[in-house]
Amino acid sequence: MSAPIVFSGIQPTGRKHLGNFIGAIRQYVEGQDRGEPAIFCIVDLHAISVAYDPAELRERVYDTAAILLAAGLDPERCIFFRQSDVREHSELTWLLSAVTSHGDLNRMHQFKEKSGKQRDLVAAALFFYPVLMAADVLAYRATEVPVGDDQRQHVELMREIARRFNERFGETLVVPELRIPGVGARIMDLQEPERKMSTTGGTENGTVLVLDEPAAIRKKFGSAVTDSGREVRRAPEKAGISNLIDIYAVASDNEPDVVERVFESQGYGDFKKAVAEAVVEYLAPVRERYAELRPDEAALEAILAAGAEKARVIAADTLVDVRSRMGFGPA
Ligand code: ATP
Ligand code: MG
Repeated sequence: MSAPIVFSGIQPTGRKHLGNFIGAIRQYVEGQDRGEPAIFCIVDLHAISVAYDPAELRERVYDTAAILLAAGLDPERCIFFRQSDVREHSELTWLLSAVTSHGDLNRMHQFKEKSGKQRDLVAAALFFYPVLMAADVLAYRATEVPVGDDQRQHVELMREIARRFNERFGETLVVPELRIPGVGARIMDLQEPERKMSTTGGTENGTVLVLDEPAAIRKKFGSAVTDSGREVRRAPEKAGISNLIDIYAVASDNEPDVVERVFESQGYGDFKKAVAEAVVEYLAPVRERYAELRPDEAALEAILAAGAEKARVIAADTLVDVRSRMGFGPA
């Protein structure tokens, strides 16, 4: 089997949290040595689908870039860039809209959830978001998309878009595979464990940020919502504890059943403390490295610009084929 072409994007909205780290960023770092190439993108064009401030967007791109580099992305081993630097994403979005079903877009859970939260305007961009996401991946003919569980539906849609394009215009695009981590694909809010941890939709105390100080991390885990039982084990009716077991498993590099066995005879209080300590240790190197990297915006720009140059070559090649198949330009 040949090496996968890995692609994934992450939004520069808000600050990145433990869910993003465990569900996505961890997979990126691991994927950069499997992918040939592995391509990671800060999807700033996606960020404009909800209300935002242009100056702040620019800052958040640097924040996110520094977090990913601090986590271990290495521009020598992957292509790391800012989406808006590669105009092919926008052009391909429009072209793919010809083979995207309006009915499919209407069924997207994320649109339903996020549109309900918008105060002034539900931007058409929020509805169109999955087409841009399809373009992001299909532009690189990626075979593998590492994401969290919440992105299943969007990946299924991009597969459908690629298939429909190939049927209509001839074999051109690659139908990518979803890649979801076995443990931690959906990290839940610590305060409301029925909801996923999220930059935009979660509770303040239930969302552990990658850059949180140890004291903040301890406080958030200390007040994590559990249940009236006393057993540290995973079960559908124990959403809070199940979530903590997954988090501890990833942070301590253990299997969840090992975690259950180790904490079998301990109370929730001790378990929560142990989870907090494991996460403090897990995130500390990232926070420290971030502090070194974030101030040098010129260096971050240089990394993103060099990445965009490499990305553009691949995306432009796909666009030549797509345009030609669709009847644009001279024969
Ligand atoms: P928003 O709520 O604004 O969509 P987000 O927290 O989902 O923000 P994104 O940048 O959209 O952040 O997601 C980046 C990656 O993190 C995606 O691959 C997504 O699937 C993953 N992810 C997001 N939340 C979680 C979570 N709670 N658990 C595991 N993975 C997650
Ligand atoms: Mg998201």
